[in-house]
Amino acid sequence: QAKTQGGGRYAFFGVDLRERVQRHMVLEQDLRHAVQRDELWVAYQPVVDLRVDRTVAVEGLLRWSHPVHGTVSPAEFIPLAEESDLINPIGAHMLHTAAGQLADERERHELDLQLNANLSPRQLEDPDLLANVQQALADSGLPPHALCLEITENAIMQDPAAAARVLNGLRELGIGLAIDDFGTGYSSLAQLRQLPLDILKIDRTFVTDLAESEELEVIVNSIIAMAHAVGLEVVAEGIETPQQLAILRTLGCDQAQGYYLGKPTSIQELFPPNIPPHPEKTA
Ligand code: C2E
Ligand code: MG
Ligand code: MG
Ligand code: MG
Repeated sequence: QAKTQGGGRYAFFGVDLRERVQRHMVLEQDLRHAVQRDELWVAYQPVVDLRVDRTVAVEGLLRWSHPVHGTVSPAEFIPLAEESDLINPIGAHMLHTAAGQLADERERHELDLQLNANLSPRQLEDPDLLANVQQALADSGLPPHALCLEITENAIMQDPAAAARVLNGLRELGIGLAIDDFGTGYSSLAQLRQLPLDILKIDRTFVTDLAESEELEVIVNSIIAMAHAVGLEVVAEGIETPQQLAILRTLGCDQAQGYYLGKPTSIQELFPPNIPPHPEKTA
């Protein structure tokens, strides 16, 4: 965060701005072919349920292996995709890939592991969204209850009535719904209460200084209490230290995600292919 802000100070002048505009244009152009060229892949980060100390879900996070620029962060290319109408095909591709990979591993290891996937605001407006989600489930065999879609509060607040219709449609498919990055936008739990949500994810910015700030602890405590009061489970993001995890446990946080618990990794790293399949499955 500090780094990008530091860079921003120079970005108004000369060479750096030109470089950034150039990179923006090149990436936006190249993104058009990224799916066909198979440059997009999904990293998976474990989500640990603190009540049973077990990984119960993984969040799928898109990665772009660019032939020249190396790994490009979704924080950089998702906004480009949103600007250029590529987000819907990329989002559909992501869901299809991740559902397929998760369904395979669930079967191979007889695991009840849930897939969490992010939806961008533009995908919420896509008339084909429901059909795409249904198709990803049908093609992969992933059961609907094993899929949870994450939506940021700002995506919902752009048009709450329209968002409610889409979320209700998704809910009817039997999938779970989470509100992502809670606390960074302008929604309130009173507004979110009207929506068919299952999970509230507390943004990482609340976790970062949790061990140094009693004030933050009070805030996070009340977010958790309010979420529980309206029937939502709470996931905290961005746990990097055992101290942060310990505090979240005492505050009654249900699930946690962060580098301390596991970094996003490829499906092959998460489930090494040399692990033999479940004995009963070999015949
Ligand atoms: P997000 O959904 O809030 O995902 C969490 C981000 O925090 C991920 O960044 C993850 O790698 C990072 N993170 C996890 N644990 C820690 C930690 O302990 N410390 C720190 N500093 N960071 C942590 P990533 O993978 O770069 O993704 C950034 C954002 O890009 C995501 O934020 C999400 O909004 C978006 N994104 C990623 N994949 C997709 C996708 O398939 N579709 C859409 N629409 N957006 C995506
Ligand atoms: Mg997310
Ligand atoms: Mg998040
Ligand atoms: Mg976040």
